[in-house]
Amino acid sequence: MKIAVLKESEEGERRVAASAETAKKFIALGATVAVEAGAGAGASIADADYEAAGASVGTRAAALQDAGIILCVQGPPPESLAGAKAGALLVGALNPTGRRERVEAYAAAGLEALAMEWMPRITRAQSMDILSSQSNLAGYKAVLDAAAEYGRAFPMMMTAAGTVSAAKLFVMGVGVAGLQAIATGRRLGAQVSATDVRSATKEQILSLGAKPVFVENVAGIEGEGAGGYAAEMSDEYKAAQAELVSSHIAKQDIVITTALIPGKPAPRLISDAQVATMKPGSVIVDLAVEQGGNVEGAEAGQMVERHGVKIVGHRNVPSRLAADTSALFSRNLYNFLSAFWDAEARAPVLPDQDEIVRGIRLTRGGKVVHERLTG
Ligand code: NAD
Repeated sequence: MKIAVLKESEEGERRVAASAETAKKFIALGATVAVEAGAGAGASIADADYEAAGASVGTRAAALQDAGIILCVQGPPPESLAGAKAGALLVGALNPTGRRERVEAYAAAGLEALAMEWMPRITRAQSMDILSSQSNLAGYKAVLDAAAEYGRAFPMMMTAAGTVSAAKLFVMGVGVAGLQAIATGRRLGAQVSATDVRSATKEQILSLGAKPVFVENVAGIEGEGAGGYAAEMSDEYKAAQAELVSSHIAKQDIVITTALIPGKPAPRLISDAQVATMKPGSVIVDLAVEQGGNVEGAEAGQMVERHGVKIVGHRNVPSRLAADTSALFSRNLYNFLSAFWDAEARAPVLPDQDEIVRGIRLTRGGKVVHERLTG
């Protein structure tokens, strides 16, 4: 079994789908690994590191030739896969709904496309979950991005020249990214509060030493919600949340928003009028900006200033920590493929009825097969 590792072609994408460590592990399983030259450069992995791990390094065409598995971070343009053999697995974050036309083209090329972001959130698949591994580091980086834009310090400092007060940081949306944002804000010495629609997060917020700020008297989502995810809230809830946020946000220096609803645009949590109530010099980081944004006025790929408040909207935040996010992404892919590895066949065997396979398999035998895509 030959595994090809592609160099990413999407603008601003610095990550890579296999590290030297996972290349070595695949080779230990009996595979050969062929890396496109320069694939690891953005993640500080040199071609020589892959060679030292036992992989070959060369052109994309050489990597693709006879490969049975193609690893990528983002789904590549289908035409760039010319020469790939029919039946090869294409494994990565393929953005199946956003890049539907690519999925069709992968099917037409005979590839078996596996969208890792649709990995079911079951215990067995935790170590294969790219959304968790990447969101975790994105939550961390969002706080550092806020700190970099903020013209004041985060921790309280008592100096001979007087006291610097602690920054007040508010996290909206306490999933994987939000939890790490809370922890990072606390480590930097900020006074942290947080909110979510899922009541189960209240205890998690408290356990990290932050203050929960929750809508009372209007039903939110009790417990964990379907698969741990949020759903769209009632108008009554939205109104109560807006009122709560208005009174809280005016007192905050930093706000990090991470709220997402699977299959829907990101919920709007902060209006322009609410931004206007914040002190000049405050900073908002909108991690949901690429899914439509939680903050009115946020723009993907931009830092905009509204009413003296900076609104940060970096695209592809995981790519801003490419060495670490690549290491984790690579392990997610290795953990998935090795779990299905058949020692005799020296290849992964993906049973049709397996919950994981059903969750992520988009195309097979020339057709789009995933029920979320076929309707
Ligand atoms: P996500 O990225 O889908 O959303 C981020 C957060 O935004 C969620 O906590 C969500 O409740 C919140 N949110 C949505 N609408 C909101 C609103 N209007 N106001 C405030 N907050 C809002 O979430 P995620 O990081 O993917 O995590 C979702 C859940 O999945 C968590 O419970 C997490 O622990 C769980 N999870 C389970 C596994 C597993 O079992 N394998 C792996 C990872 C995450």
